[in-house]
Amino acid sequence: MSSPTSQANNGAKKIVVVGAGVIGVATAYRLRRDGHDVTLIDKESGPALETSFANGGQMSAGEVAPWAGPGVPTQALKWLGRADAPLRLRLKADPAQWKWLWRFWRRCSLKAQRDGAERNVGLALLSRTVLQETLDDLAAKGMAPDFDRKEKGILRVFATQEEVYHAAEEADRLEPFGLHQERLNAQECVDLEPALASAHQRGELAGGVYSRSDQSGDAYKFTDALARAVEEMGVTCLYEEKVAKLERQGERITHVRTNLRRLEADAVVLAAGVMSPHLLDGIALPVYPVKGYSVTLEVPDDGSAPNVSVTDEVRRIVVSRLGNRLRAAGQAEVAGYDRTVEADRAQSVLDAVRALFPALGEDLEPEFWCGLRPMTPDGVPVLGKAPGRDNLYLNTGHGTLGWTLAMGSAALIAELIGGRDPSVDPAHFSATRF
Ligand SMILES: Cc1cc2nc3c(=O)[nH]c(=O)nc-3n(C[C@H](O)[C@H](O)[C@H](O)COP(=O)(O)OP(=O)(O)OC[C@H]3O[C@@H](n4cnc5c(N)ncnc54)[C@H](O)[C@@H]3O)c2cc1C
Repeated sequence: MSSPTSQANNGAKKIVVVGAGVIGVATAYRLRRDGHDVTLIDKESGPALETSFANGGQMSAGEVAPWAGPGVPTQALKWLGRADAPLRLRLKADPAQWKWLWRFWRRCSLKAQRDGAERNVGLALLSRTVLQETLDDLAAKGMAPDFDRKEKGILRVFATQEEVYHAAEEADRLEPFGLHQERLNAQECVDLEPALASAHQRGELAGGVYSRSDQSGDAYKFTDALARAVEEMGVTCLYEEKVAKLERQGERITHVRTNLRRLEADAVVLAAGVMSPHLLDGIALPVYPVKGYSVTLEVPDDGSAPNVSVTDEVRRIVVSRLGNRLRAAGQAEVAGYDRTVEADRAQSVLDAVRALFPALGEDLEPEFWCGLRPMTPDGVPVLGKAPGRDNLYLNTGHGTLGWTLAMGSAALIAELIGGRDPSVDPAHFSATRF
């Protein structure tokens, strides 16, 4: 296996990257760094304006277990009809949704969940290395991004000892992959993050699992800065331009057709988030939207808001401090492609973060947002050559983990295109596994 720093050893190619979310921009960066002639296309007016815009901010190698797991179907049934339920299902007359749900349900076992976590953790750790390398590279070019990064770890908190025990046991299983996590009692959680004192006093905090080496930051700010950097490095960025079709002759994509032009390509990388399956002809890709919400509050520096990124496993929210802002995110709705911010769903994220940190002032102005996670049923992204295509690469399906896995996924795609030894086993992420 090569180091992620190795350079391309073959000739430069003309490559089109479809989608300028965190995944597409990271890919454009890695490809350009290898000397390719890269064009990045997005239908929006700039980078990261869809799902990568206001996510939970966590880069969490410790939380790579897929959502499909034991007990999930039973829990989902219990939540049916509850407006504030963390998980909601709205059935559509859409065979893709039904097929996706069936596949998700079939993965709801401990064995499948562990398998997914093991595939993801290597990629998450690679991402961490590649992120640092990218930041060093950009700093050397005088383009260091400010994205409210915090390297204070991520703490998962639980309400019962049984939950802490189970989470610590699963965390230990990731140790051989190179990720160390610590089990903390309630007081140790408060010592680490004093804003949790109130939850402890109310008896709501049994303990936690702390991934010290994890970090958080603003995915939008990072992607926006990286997009500007890649443009400086010579990537052609086409915004407000929609890809209509990947034209092919046999197994080869010859052109990318947009609403404005037809671009010739030696290779194409599809990183179009939830829209990725719609740009494929003759290839079934089980990536389906799972809607989530976030709320962002401007917070004073008075100890009311946490500095350590926290995942509340009871209320099912993640919370990250982004400079003078606090971002909380949660909710999962399998409800098609609708992007409307529904007041009750958004409010439930705000209520949850206020319940966890009650010292947060009532007068803080919330900014609500929702986004569609591009989810695979097994919670593992799809990376690598598309089946039956010579020069089409998939970099999509990152679901709940796009920010965590972005830089590693981009590095892997660049290695595959460059014909180098991959840093992680691409078979783990193949589109043929479904
Ligand atoms: C509420 C919420 C909280 C989350 N929290 C976290 C977190 O804490 N940590 C984490 O790791 N992940 C988190 N995620 C997941 C993460 O945000 C996503 O996995 C990631 O943003 C996906 O990135 P992407 O680039 O694949 O998709 P996107 O950011 O959606 O980018 C895809 C791009 O493709 C473009 N596109 C689509 N079709 C076309 C077309 N035909 N032509 C041109 N352009 C096109 C779109 O305009 C878009 O810009 C969260 C997600 C949500 C919703």
